[in-house]
Amino acid sequence: MTYDYLVAGSGFAGAVLAERLASQLGKRCLVVDRRDHIGGNAYDELDRAGVLIHRYGPHYFRTNSQRVIDYLSAFTEWRPEAYRILSWTDGEYWPFPINLNTFEKFIGRSSTPEEMRETLERWREPIDNPANSEEVIVSQVGRPLYEKFFKNYTLKQWQRDPSELDPSVCGRIPLRFDRDDRYLSERFQALPKDGYTPMFHRMLQQPGIDLVLERDYREVAAEVEYDKLIYTGPIDAYFGFCEGELPYRTLRFEPETLQREFFQPTVQVNYPNDFAFTRIVEMKHITGQNLPVTTIVREFPEAYAAGREPYYPVPCPASKAIYEKYAARARAEPDVHFVGRLARYRYYNMDQVVAMALKEFDKIAAAG
Ligand code: FAD
Ligand code: UDP
Repeated sequence: MTYDYLVAGSGFAGAVLAERLASQLGKRCLVVDRRDHIGGNAYDELDRAGVLIHRYGPHYFRTNSQRVIDYLSAFTEWRPEAYRILSWTDGEYWPFPINLNTFEKFIGRSSTPEEMRETLERWREPIDNPANSEEVIVSQVGRPLYEKFFKNYTLKQWQRDPSELDPSVCGRIPLRFDRDDRYLSERFQALPKDGYTPMFHRMLQQPGIDLVLERDYREVAAEVEYDKLIYTGPIDAYFGFCEGELPYRTLRFEPETLQREFFQPTVQVNYPNDFAFTRIVEMKHITGQNLPVTTIVREFPEAYAAGREPYYPVPCPASKAIYEKYAARARAEPDVHFVGRLARYRYYNMDQVVAMALKEFDKIAAAG
């Protein structure tokens, strides 16, 4: 069989490109994934108790991009959701991310946005251009709040001190002076109405797309003919680690089904200072399922090793230097498109990967 494109990976990067190439340009695509399912890390499924869970950690869809919303809306309806979480520390639940409610709880009385601004102005450390994740938080809220909510969570998650990580890592978390306690700030926040996996099925059901699961693309590449490769796996693996191994963090997910309607007050509770896990996620809060049982998932960050899933690229100066060498090699391969979180080694959210894949498609279409 001859294909125009071999697509390595069926997550957002691979699925969007295969769908666009097949439906808009009539290209024949073979999508290969080494996992036994499509959807990459966004895969969701019913567990044995019938509870809809995200197998690879909570995936909260959010975006400011109308193009991304319009594109995905062809494959799914949406269930709007304002994701709300809590942080558990010192034996209590705290509103998080830090907002006026958190501030009031911290000072032990009611307050105003003005007082919160003035107080944080005194507490913050004056750093104009924060160079790392410690500086970005202490320059916003000062050291006590940093130590309460960020320092140990980050150490647990990355096995690195926040001062060793790019500002973008902790800088993802909003700070608000009002009572908006949503975890995220993007204007569109919603889950695919029937889940992510049915959405991926619809994307990949285009005529012209074939799918092979549980195979490494390299084995399949040796068996079929194809013109071009879309590669969405780890970039260091593609190049045989010739410039050295990039660092990753992996996770162990520990699900537990409980014979009760709900376990915790919100979909996610973060544990910065207690336990070996970083968070407990109870998706049932936001999937709309009406069941007498619930499933919670504890998330344990672990060291990455060959054979495990490289869930997180590690944003820090040392990894950037290695990545740049791979990126230069990638630019020298005109017949391979490197797209997605692992191929670009960036801590991208789903919508950013969809936007990147659509942009890559534009380039391919323009080149004719
Ligand atoms: P992936 O989803 O990783 O897909 C890559 C696919 O390639 C995988 O299925 C893999 O099996 C396959 N592959 C790799 N190598 C090979 C090979 N050699 N041969 C064949 N197949 C191969 N984003 C959000 O927007 N909101 C969230 O709330 C959110 N939460 C997250 C929570 C966790 C725990 C994690 C890890 C990520 C989260 N993300 C979230 C990010 C989101 O998962 C990614 O942005 C998105 O899945 C990236 O899509 P992708 O196609 O680039 O990569
Ligand atoms: N973070 C933290 N405390 C928290 C939540 C997040 O210190 O309670 C930091 C931590 O370094 C984390 C990063 O902010 O890795 C980004 O958090 P997010 O919840 O966006 O992580 P993800 O869902 O991508 O794992």
